[in-house]
Amino acid sequence: DRWIEVDGLHKIYRPRKSRPTHALSDITFTVRRGEFISVVGPSGCGKTTLLKILAGIVRGSEGTVRVAGRDVTGPLPEVGMVFQAATLLPWRTILQNVMVPVEVRKLDARVYRERAERLLGMVGLDGFEGKYPHELSGGMQQRAGICRALVHDPAVLLMDEPFGALDALTREYMNVELLRIWRESGQTIVFVTHSIPEAVFLSDRVVVLSPRPGRVAEIVDIGLERP
Ligand code: ADP
Ligand code: ADP
Repeated sequence: DRWIEVDGLHKIYRPRKSRPTHALSDITFTVRRGEFISVVGPSGCGKTTLLKILAGIVRGSEGTVRVAGRDVTGPLPEVGMVFQAATLLPWRTILQNVMVPVEVRKLDARVYRERAERLLGMVGLDGFEGKYPHELSGGMQQRAGICRALVHDPAVLLMDEPFGALDALTREYMNVELLRIWRESGQTIVFVTHSIPEAVFLSDRVVVLSPRPGRVAEIVDIGLERP
């Protein structure tokens, strides 16, 4: 039941005009299906790099990465990713933005439109379907971005500090909403944050990375019984 397997992963960035950076060193951990795992660690320890490797956007230098039983050599259809800032297309409405993954994958728009509308309702964006991104606050745009990542019901959801730009209250609200969506969907979630309280609140387990090059310092089992 190992849904994500990272084994002996190293990442060395080799930019043309500057010195190489050893970003990740010998990372090994597994994630069970349906588990909510957080990755914490200081700035620059390679959290984003790790997530991008899982997403198939960046290649590891050494080691193996498997998601849903397959080697990751590029973006897999069962994986969705939420970036730090919502990157909505300004010329499309909120609903049209949320539907982008459905279009890209050529899924049945009629089936998924209903899901898109329901997700927008869950994050408090009822009635904003036909608005354009500039008509919404930053926090609302970010919530729409989360709906976009969820719309095609990806088995694995990768989230890179998705609520980092939100005010504290909206952030708390979104954390609770995320847990609700997660319980409903049975998704496997990898959540990057620099906030330990947030990681503890959300996760089954927390992977703690040490400063650069990121190594697994500790894997903490939160072991909370959820209501
Ligand atoms: P975190 O998300 O934990 O802040 P990152 O994964 O963004 O860490 O970065 C880890 C290290 O790799 C940092 O030292 C960063 O400067 C470096 N790095 C990240 N992306 C690149 C890149 N495209 N080219 C060169 N170095 C990079
Ligand atoms: P911020 O990102 O500025 O913190 P929030 O996402 O927390 O904003 O928005 C707070 C609330 O303000 C929203 O839930 C919404 O009710 C209201 N709001 C913000 N911008 C708009 C807008 N353009 N149109 C209507 N209501 C808005």
